[in-house]
Amino acid sequence: MRAQLAISYHRHDIPDRLRFGDSVAVDTETMGLSLWRDRLCVVQLSAGDGDAHVVHFPDRDYAAPNLRRVLADPETTKIFHYARFDLAMIQRHFGIVCAPVYCTKIASRLVRTNAERHGLKDLCSELLGIELSKQQQTSDWGAPALDQAQIAYAGADVLHLHALRRALDALLEREGRRPLADACFRFLPARATLDLAGWAEEDLFAH
Ligand code: MN
Repeated sequence: MRAQLAISYHRHDIPDRLRFGDSVAVDTETMGLSLWRDRLCVVQLSAGDGDAHVVHFPDRDYAAPNLRRVLADPETTKIFHYARFDLAMIQRHFGIVCAPVYCTKIASRLVRTNAERHGLKDLCSELLGIELSKQQQTSDWGAPALDQAQIAYAGADVLHLHALRRALDALLEREGRRPLADACFRFLPARATLDLAGWAEEDLFAH
C-alpha cells in the first residue's frame, strides 16, 4: 500500500495511453442539480488501484474521444454512486450511452433495507470505516482552473467505489437480490434517457 495517493488533473480528456481494465469508478461534478440548466464540469475516474483521474471541462469542449471510448466500452463496467444523475449528464454532454453500469446507491437500497441513509458518505463510513469529506461539494466546478482542494475532493469521490461494490456484492449474494440488482443496473441508461426526455418526476410504473 502506497502512502501517497496519486490524483492526476487533466483538461478536456484523459491521455491516450490510459487503460482501466474491466471496471472503472466514475463520478461527475456539475454547475448544479438541474439536468437541463446546469453543465458538466468534471468527470473523475479510478481503476480501483488508489489512483484517480480528474478530467476538467472549463469550457464547452466535450469532444473527449478517449473518455468517450472508456465510458461507452461494453467490456468495462462503470461503477457510480447514484448513476441515474451522472448517466443523464453524460448522455446530454457526450451524446453516448454509458454502459454497462453498477450503482452503489441502488445496491445499498436493495440490501441495506435496515439503513436509513444511502449517501456515498454514509456507505463509506458504515461499510468501509472511511470518513469522506463533503466540504467542496458545492464549490465552483466551472472555474477556469480547479484548486488543489477541489482536485483532491473530486478524486476522493471515486477512490472507494470498487471497495463499496465488493462489500455490497457480498450483501446482494447473502440476501439473494443479485438478479434484481442486475436488472436495475441494465435499466439505468433508459432511466437516464427518460429523465432527459421529460419523465423525471413521473413514475411510469404507477397506476
Ligand atoms: Mn462527486
